[in-house]
Amino acid sequence: MQSGDPCVGREQPNYVFCQRPRCPSCGSARLQTYRSVADGEVTTRHTLCKDCGEKFRVVLE
Ligand SMILES: [Zn+2]
Repeated sequence: MQSGDPCVGREQPNYVFCQRPRCPSCGSARLQTYRSVADGEVTTRHTLCKDCGEKFRVVLE
């Protein structure tokens, strides 16, 4: 970090890391969302695995 920069100390970078959803059956990250349902603050994605064809739901809290 450089001192003397007026931006340093004022704007802290905030990072939020979201893990990439993976297929519970084969572990693939090649997923296709075919339906997304928002219920309040929670979003449920109906997801299809492109590798093994498994259908499952990804819940975003
Ligand atoms: Zn799969």
